Amino acid sequence: MRASGAASSGASSGASSGAGPGLRAGVIPLAAFGDGGEIPVPYVIARSGELVNDPLLFAMDWSRRREVLYLTYASRRAADWVGGILRARVLDSGVGDPLWRQVNTVRQWRCMSELLCQVCGLPAAEPGEPIPWILTETAFHGLAGVPDADGGAGNGDAGDTNQPPTCRRCIPSALAFCPRLGVSAEVVTAGSAEPVAVLGELFQPGEGAGWRWPVSVGHNVYIGLDEFARHPRVLATQLVMRLHDIRREGGGAGAGEVAGAGSSAGVS
Ligand SMILES: [Zn+2]
Repeated sequence: MRASGAASSGASSGASSGAGPGLRAGVIPLAAFGDGGEIPVPYVIARSGELVNDPLLFAMDWSRRREVLYLTYASRRAADWVGGILRARVLDSGVGDPLWRQVNTVRQWRCMSELLCQVCGLPAAEPGEPIPWILTETAFHGLAGVPDADGGAGNGDAGDTNQPPTCRRCIPSALAFCPRLGVSAEVVTAGSAEPVAVLGELFQPGEGAGWRWPVSVGHNVYIGLDEFARHPRVLATQLVMRLHDIRREGGGAGAGEVAGAGSSAGVS
């Protein structure tokens, strides 16, 4: 599944609020930030009124004639699974105070699947155009030797990120966040992007008779979409995309600057 430009890759976008005509479902009215009051609350940021704490447990799957334990919400719904992976429940209401260091799982997923801007929630690029992306040290991992989008040998200008794209109109305000969050960033474009993994909380069954009760064994664990054996034990919170044909704004391959281990990319 590969998305290019503003084309949708068709993944489920989960719950949405009942916004009226003309207003995209889930778009949140802009709010003031701190005393400056000039930075909007990005579309992707979670709100305090959207958190859901439904209980999780392990269940036994007897299909395929072998017992497989899998994580589920106690009140299971088919819509909880996206591509066979359990996705964390959140509301998409925009209600409550912004939780600046937390993303709303439904909106993050939607931004990635539909290549929407993480700030305004509108398409990040025109169809067929390179997709503008802000890469930050904390949310981008450069990869060497990844095949090109067309299956070629690859030249290193690829990488994985859990941060959605940003449209050109929103790039200035998004960059203004970076110093406040203590991260450095670089503006690039990606020729194409495809989902490759999720970040999530990994669980194992409890001891003995308490096997149904999940025990957390890791936060923000990277689980590849092809790591099927691990899928039954993860609660996914973010979708990770692999970017191809990364170009730094102004020309040239751009992945290396941010990707280098311990490097400090200097655009802010
Ligand atoms: Zn935007």
